[in-house]
Amino acid sequence: MALRTAQQYLDSLRDGRVVYYAGERIRDVVDHAHFGLRARANAAQYGRGAADDAETLAARTVTLPDGEVIHRWHQPPRSQEDLLKFVAMEEEMPGDAHGAMAAGITGLQIVARKMDAKFGTAYTPRIDAYAEWYARNDLHGAFAMTDAKGDRSKPPSGQADPDLWVRVVERRADGIVIRGAKTSVTSAALANELLVLPTHGMGPADADWSVACAVPANAPGVVMISNYAGAPWGERFRFDKPVNHSTFHHDATVIFNDVFVPNERVFMDGEFDHTRELLGYFTTLHRTGVLVREPRDTKKLIGAAQLMARYNGLENVGAIRSTIAEMIETAQLLDALRYTALNRVQIIEGLCVPDAVACNLAGLTITGRRDAFLTFLCELCGGPVLTAPSGLDLENPETAALVRKYYVGKDGVGADERLRLVKYIYDLCASDASGWTRASGVTAAGSPGARRVAVGRGFDLEGCVKAVLADLA
Ligand SMILES: Cc1cc2nc3c(=O)[nH]c(=O)nc-3n(C[C@H](O)[C@H](O)[C@H](O)COP(=O)(O)OP(=O)(O)OC[C@H]3O[C@@H](n4cnc5c(N)ncnc54)[C@H](O)[C@@H]3O)c2cc1C
Repeated sequence: MALRTAQQYLDSLRDGRVVYYAGERIRDVVDHAHFGLRARANAAQYGRGAADDAETLAARTVTLPDGEVIHRWHQPPRSQEDLLKFVAMEEEMPGDAHGAMAAGITGLQIVARKMDAKFGTAYTPRIDAYAEWYARNDLHGAFAMTDAKGDRSKPPSGQADPDLWVRVVERRADGIVIRGAKTSVTSAALANELLVLPTHGMGPADADWSVACAVPANAPGVVMISNYAGAPWGERFRFDKPVNHSTFHHDATVIFNDVFVPNERVFMDGEFDHTRELLGYFTTLHRTGVLVREPRDTKKLIGAAQLMARYNGLENVGAIRSTIAEMIETAQLLDALRYTALNRVQIIEGLCVPDAVACNLAGLTITGRRDAFLTFLCELCGGPVLTAPSGLDLENPETAALVRKYYVGKDGVGADERLRLVKYIYDLCASDASGWTRASGVTAAGSPGARRVAVGRGFDLEGCVKAVLADLA
């Protein structure tokens, strides 16, 4: 199949999938006022077919050895060059990122080879065939990893209700039946395929929960309940919410009510001792998203701070300059971590994996500092970050002149440009959407605790102790 067009992607979502949202069933996610916003952002990735310009196509596609052109996000990185192009592509694209799905498929391809070598299983041809089918049919995927979990101090096998972690409830000659729920699955309602992955390292008693497989989003028994994050304000409020006026991000709780999965879509069934390793590859590749997002967003916070200080005539105040200098240190550190992550790569089973320590450290670095930066921006803006008149008052002839008179900055800085920046800072630091972004940055690609574990892995702690003991001897 050739590359899908935007319209083909949108049409593919009208497949009878079961989606609930804000207390009701959504029959058509494409026509829905909120889901439609995200669906169209995703559709823009698919382009306009023959009408696409050569440069965009070159950045977003790769040609397979047999001449078929596929989207780059379907191609697991096999070299550092692939990885760099993948990250560059994610930086430019609207809508859902593809790193997580690619990470899931790539991680499974690596682990399948190891499981087959150890157990004589035949997962490699299955996951390779699935990856090829998924790519050649140009599908859109979501990864379903995070289990409902219940009592977090206990493993899946220790839960009062065994369904709290997705598990195999039946094994048939032609496949398995799974039951359970995965929470927080980004854009599940706008995906064609759900990639089910185990969320923790499992033990011998957890074999039935050690399952990885692919499920079509409209498979019988799949029920999605999407979160409600509030109605987007819409185009009318473009001035007041310049970043988020018409954006919609949704995450669904995906319930698998005894869903049959044919053998060719089962990529792990019971191999508990490979779950931890799979997670390691998945999270490292998935967290490359941090390398895309955080350096870019941190620079925007710095730019907003510098501009606000300039507009208010405070650019040369020592305390402000020194706080901006601290922000610059963080941005430089993130750039250095990005460089390390994408250059200290490993080729494992023919696939290119970025440096885990640098990826996870980038996430931890900004999670710990972002709050201070946002607080500083609010301080620079002063009360207007929350109290300034709306852009609509700049359009109303009864109020426009008054707003323009009293919201100017230093000489030469008019109220329109200053208020535009105030609203930008509001949307980055103080709006409902900014709260969402803040919380999302804390856990979306794994909790800080999980990142700390990844950063510490392989570190020679005892070597540090020995060095001190040697000094003391
Ligand atoms: C915006 C967003 C998008 C997401 N998208 C996806 C997605 O597409 N697919 C997907 O599968 N997941 C997704 N996630 C889920 C994300 O990966 C998880 O939120 C994250 O891994 C934490 O898991 P949890 O939410 O179940 O929290 P929990 O596991 O309940 O953890 C809550 C807190 O308790 C701590 N904790 C938990 N267990 C223990 C323990 N045994 N000992 C000590 N401390 C513990 C954790 O460190 C954490 O701080 C998304 C999350 C967000 C916020």
